[in-house]
Amino acid sequence: MALASRTSSRSPRPAIDLTVVASSWLTPHLVRVTLGGPGFARFEDRAETDKYVKLMFTDTDSLIVTRTYTVRRVDHEAQTLDIDFVVHGDEGLAGPWAASAAPGASLRLMGPGGGYAPNTEASWYLYLGDLSAVPAIAAALAALPADAVGAAFIEVDAEDAIVTLDAPHGVDVHWVVDAEHATETLADRVRGMTWRDGTVDVFAHGERESMKALRRALFDERGLDRGQVSLSGYWARGRTEDRFQAEKREPIGQIL
Ligand SMILES: Cc1cc2nc3c(=O)[nH]c(=O)nc-3n(C[C@H](O)[C@H](O)[C@H](O)COP(=O)(O)OP(=O)(O)OC[C@H]3O[C@@H](n4cnc5c(N)ncnc54)[C@H](O)[C@@H]3O)c2cc1C
Repeated sequence: MALASRTSSRSPRPAIDLTVVASSWLTPHLVRVTLGGPGFARFEDRAETDKYVKLMFTDTDSLIVTRTYTVRRVDHEAQTLDIDFVVHGDEGLAGPWAASAAPGASLRLMGPGGGYAPNTEASWYLYLGDLSAVPAIAAALAALPADAVGAAFIEVDAEDAIVTLDAPHGVDVHWVVDAEHATETLADRVRGMTWRDGTVDVFAHGERESMKALRRALFDERGLDRGQVSLSGYWARGRTEDRFQAEKREPIGQIL
């Protein structure tokens, strides 16, 4: 499928009911849930590497609430898709659900949408994010040509959150452990890294305040154009996704 490097789709897709086929812990902080069943036939795959779905849960008032997750991998032969969930404690709906998801459980989702695929015209690639963006970064790294060059900086809370990612030989993957969650951690890596010549294609997603710091480092300090950077918050500390999404309409929620 021909694909522009940055597209977006907000067209509504029908809800699909899937069944948990398997789950496996990649680390103590990340659990992979494999979903399949008859509903998979209605899943309309997309070419973007950050394709995401809206998972539907019921809150304590029996209201439907959604949570946004990347589809890490689609296996058309097995008729399954994988979603990697950050397990971030007992708070929330999706994280705790994934931590105890057992084969046979059902999950309703809408989507996918998508916004990024590696720009084949770029000279080099820069991937920035935290554990929530690892599925999208992993999918992008896997889609790069074998001779691609660049770097990835991924911020995690602890050493045992590090996962092995397949990347082209010329793309250095750096794990940055910061238990203090300093807002400038990733931005400081951008400031301190060796900057290559040529046009960079940047994908930067993760905690909202960290992304605001990256906005300054990438646009104000490195002078990049909007068109060469995919940048957004995936979540915000101390906010449920409902509040995080609602705050996008307020100054505090705006990255760009
Ligand atoms: C396009 C997109 C793609 C995403 N892809 C993924 C993905 O593939 N995997 C993934 O794990 N997340 C992903 N996220 C982030 C995910 O949607 C949020 O983390 C979401 O808030 C989790 O929902 P919850 O019900 O577990 O927690 P919520 O009910 O939303 O929040 C409860 C509490 O947990 C905190 N919290 C939420 N997420 C995290 C976290 N990652 N680390 C620490 N604390 C947290 C909140 O700040 C809040 O205090 C993506 C987000 C977007 C917008």
